[in-house]
Amino acid sequence: MISCPYPVNLMEFVPESMTRIPLTILLLEDEAIDAGLIREQLLAMAEYDCEIIWTKDKPAFLAALESKIPDLILSDYNLANFSGLDALNCVSEKKMLVPFIFVTGAIDEETAAETIKAGAWDYVVKDRLLRLPLAIRGALQLREEKSNALKAALESRKLLKAMEHSPVHIIMMNVNHEIEYVNKRYTETTGYALEDLKEKDSWRFVLHNLPEKYFSDLQRKNIHPYNWHGEIKSKKKDGTDYWESVSISPLMNEENQVTHYIIVKEDITPRKRIIQELINARNKAERSDKLKDAFLQNLSHEIRTPLNAIVGFSSLLEESSGLPDELKEYTSIILSSSNQLLSIVNDILTISRIQTGQEIITTSEVYVNSILDDMYLIFKSQASQNKIEYAVVKGNLDRDFHILIDETKLVQILTNLLNNAFKYTHEGSVTCGYTFKKDRIEFFVKDTGIGISPENQKIIFDRFRQADTSFNRNYGGTGLGLSISKSFAEMLGGQLWVESKQGEGSTFFLSLPCRTEKGMEAHLPWEETPSPKKEITILDAEDEKHNFRLIQAYLNDACIKLIHAANGLEAVNISQTTSPIDLILMDIKMPEMDGISAMLEIRKSLNVPIIAQTAYALEHEKQQLLKIGFSDYISKPLKREELVEKVYKFTD
Ligand code: ADP
Repeated sequence: MISCPYPVNLMEFVPESMTRIPLTILLLEDEAIDAGLIREQLLAMAEYDCEIIWTKDKPAFLAALESKIPDLILSDYNLANFSGLDALNCVSEKKMLVPFIFVTGAIDEETAAETIKAGAWDYVVKDRLLRLPLAIRGALQLREEKSNALKAALESRKLLKAMEHSPVHIIMMNVNHEIEYVNKRYTETTGYALEDLKEKDSWRFVLHNLPEKYFSDLQRKNIHPYNWHGEIKSKKKDGTDYWESVSISPLMNEENQVTHYIIVKEDITPRKRIIQELINARNKAERSDKLKDAFLQNLSHEIRTPLNAIVGFSSLLEESSGLPDELKEYTSIILSSSNQLLSIVNDILTISRIQTGQEIITTSEVYVNSILDDMYLIFKSQASQNKIEYAVVKGNLDRDFHILIDETKLVQILTNLLNNAFKYTHEGSVTCGYTFKKDRIEFFVKDTGIGISPENQKIIFDRFRQADTSFNRNYGGTGLGLSISKSFAEMLGGQLWVESKQGEGSTFFLSLPCRTEKGMEAHLPWEETPSPKKEITILDAEDEKHNFRLIQAYLNDACIKLIHAANGLEAVNISQTTSPIDLILMDIKMPEMDGISAMLEIRKSLNVPIIAQTAYALEHEKQQLLKIGFSDYISKPLKREELVEKVYKFTD
């Protein structure tokens, strides 16, 4: 039993408004009077609202510990069948962060030291119980600090773990450029562990290949630190090169001073390799596209050159009188087959131009009604031969009605659609016309032919696709017409689609923007070609004898003197020795000297129109010819009307 020299009812002043902190205190004390004294001290603490769990022996103490973790334990040192040190051991075993204070009779220095060594947070002798609140406050403060430190340690352990297992490289360098940390991934990739980077200048090596400026800024104290991000080529310990993406950011302390640099790197060698492979693949594709293009141009030239002679002479034969009927029929078969072959070559070339983006749009004022009239003239005989009714519907009857569009492409789309309509219609009618829908003009080609099933309507606009393979046998064709037409429609800012019912017929619609502009005279399709007034001399440079013969035949009726040069060099010589020469027709591919070199040579001394004759049908090739100095070009196979028109254009 102890006596207390201080008044036990010393209650501290508690302001009304103050919220008191709840505090659960486990008290181990076998003397009731001492327990009472302690209790009074506890209750006198103004800021705490104490719940005191009083236990007198081991079982009660352990049971209390089990049922609730207290905020504080106060324990006597000597108990009847238990000791304070044993109680402290029980708490330590449970690894609880609970302040344990001995409240004991007088103990010597040695025992006191022993209690602290055993894990007690403080001790208060019963004779000086007044110190108890002080000891409690101190212990609770210490518990708070310990708990915060534990939390911080846990957080940094978590971070460290994350860094250790991060798939990117993490390096920490202090402000003195000493490497303090590298994570596992960095070591795995590069072969360098932290020990390898302890040399004074290791940081230079770790940040190898950084831009010079950032390197020197890193070393200057007066520069405000900043983040850097980029890609650099590095070396592994075994000497292999690898690519890494690097980002460096400074770490500041509370005084805003840099203490460290956090360097995060990622091995991007595989990504770089894939990108390079993609670039290579793209370049290869572009190269093979160019090769394909060149191949197509050559193919076009090689096919068109002989076709030139075949088509030309068979048309002359067909027109000539006195030919037996049987031969006339053969001639017309040769002519139509050659034209068919020519149209296939043209389609393949067009597809190639669309694919390589070489197809260009040339907009002009287009007189829509005159186009429909032209179409009517072209398809009229086919319609009457097959006993198909052919009607034209004009949405605007004004002869001068025109829209701004690419005429060649519009004509090609309508021709393809009409060709198909007549090809796939055996009886009934074909109607071609246009109407207006808001700000658009909608052309249509309607037939009462075989129609197209819903599944096939989805595929016929794809390249080389036909509604049915058996159609191929029945109707022929390459399956390119609609694909070209659709691409052209889209290039013109329009759409092409079909509505059809199998066995009843189809209607193809072409919707285009309807832009108009005034100021151009209407073109009359039936205008007469003017006849030549004076004699003219034309030099034809052409290595193929048949082709020269054809030109002779085409220009035979006109008052034209035709001179033949068998190659470019001969053309240059003739042009320098013969006068006057009113026009030169120049083939491009010729032996000795090609047509382009010959034209350039002739241009040095003679100002004469020179027309290129080319089997190269690609648009950019033609434009190129004009750019380098030709006055015009004419495509092979030559058409008589076109040749005559060009001759008059330049000699009139
Ligand atoms: P091609 O006529 O040379 O086969 P197209 O691309 O012009 O190629 O047409 C693709 C396919 O669409 C044709 O093979 C045919 O099956 C179908 N088709 C096109 N127009 C019509 C039509 N007016 N009536 C029925 N089928 C058509």
